[in-house]
Amino acid sequence: MMNRDIVSLINNNQEFILTSHVNPDGDSIGSEIALHLYLKSLGKNAGILNYSPTPDNYTFLDKERVIEQFDEAKHKDRILNADVIFILDTNEFQRVRTLAPYIQASKAKKILIDHHLGFNPELFDEYIVDTDSPATGEMLYRFFKEIEASEGGKKVITRDMALALYTAIMTDTGSFKFNRTDEETHTIIADLLTYGLHPYDIYSEVYNNATLGRLHLLGRFLNNITLMYEGKLAYSVLLQKDFEETSTDEYAIEGFSSHLMSLETAELGIVMTQTKRGVKLSFRSKDKVFSNELAKEFEGGGHKNASGAFVVGGDILKLEKEVTEKAEKYLK
Ligand code: 5GP
Ligand code: MN
Repeated sequence: MMNRDIVSLINNNQEFILTSHVNPDGDSIGSEIALHLYLKSLGKNAGILNYSPTPDNYTFLDKERVIEQFDEAKHKDRILNADVIFILDTNEFQRVRTLAPYIQASKAKKILIDHHLGFNPELFDEYIVDTDSPATGEMLYRFFKEIEASEGGKKVITRDMALALYTAIMTDTGSFKFNRTDEETHTIIADLLTYGLHPYDIYSEVYNNATLGRLHLLGRFLNNITLMYEGKLAYSVLLQKDFEETSTDEYAIEGFSSHLMSLETAELGIVMTQTKRGVKLSFRSKDKVFSNELAKEFEGGGHKNASGAFVVGGDILKLEKEVTEKAEKYLK
C-alpha cells in the first residue's frame, strides 16, 4: 500500500524541515540524509535541524554538510513557517528537546516516520509507523520503493541514499543481529549493496574509530559490572570522572550494553551514565523481558528489547538503587 497522502504532501509543498531525536544515531542521521537527498532531487527546499550535533562517526553521510544544529534565534521562524516537518526515528516531542515547542506551534503538516512503541496518532497529521521494523531507514527504503513502483520503475534511490539507508539499517540492527532482523532486512540490504556499497568500508567508518581512552573507558565499564537476581540483571555505572580521566565523553558508550547482554545469565542489562544534565539510563533485554516498561517508570521508552530514559538532575547512587529494585519485577 502506497502512502499517497504523504507523497501528495511532498509533491504539493516546497519548504521542508527534517528532524530526529537528541543524541542521534546511525538510523536517525541515515534516515534524515536519505529523505533530504530525495526532497532535494525533487527541487524542494529542505533543511535538517537537530538538537544535538552529528556524532563524528556519522559525518561521512553528510557530504554536503546540510545538517544544522538547532539554534532557537536562527531557526525558529523556519520551523514555524515550514510547509511540512518530518519527525524521524522518535515519536516523542520530548526527544527533539528545544525544537518541540516550535514544531508544535508550526503551521506545517507534521509527518512521523518511526518504529518505536508508544506512538500517539493525535500528535501527527500523517504517519508511517511500524514497530516490527528494525530501523526507520528500512521503512524509508520501502517508501522509496513504493514511489519507484508507482512511477513505472523510475529510479528514486541513488548511491548516496543507499549508503545512508544501509548505515541506518546496519546500526539499528546491531550489524544485522538484533531480534527484528529478518529475511526482508537481508533482502533490502542485498539490494542496497547493488548500488556499489562496501560493507567493510561502511562498518569501518562507523565503528573502527575508537581512541585508546574509549577502550580504557570500556575497561572500567567491564570492571564495574554488577550482577543481581541470580545474574538475570547485569548493570554497570559510569561516572563523570570516568569520562574525564579517559578523555572521553558520554557518547563513547555506544555498544557497551552488548557486553552486558553477552553474559549467559543476563536477561536485562542497564548502563547508567552520569552526565552534566542528569543520569542517562540505557536498557537492553533478551526476548521476553519488556525493557521499555521499566524505561517508562523513568519517563522514558523505546523498543521492547532496547530502551532508555533520561533523569534530569538525577542522583546516580539513589537511581542505581531505585532502578535495580524496580527491575526485579520484569525478570519474573
Ligand atoms: P540507547 O540505549 O542506545 O541510547 O537507546 C536505545 C533506545 O532507547 C533508543 O532507540 C530509543 O528508542 C530509546 N531511548 C533512549 N533514550 C531514551 C529517552 O531518553 N527517552 C525515550 N523515550 N526513549 C529513549
Ligand atoms: Mn531507529
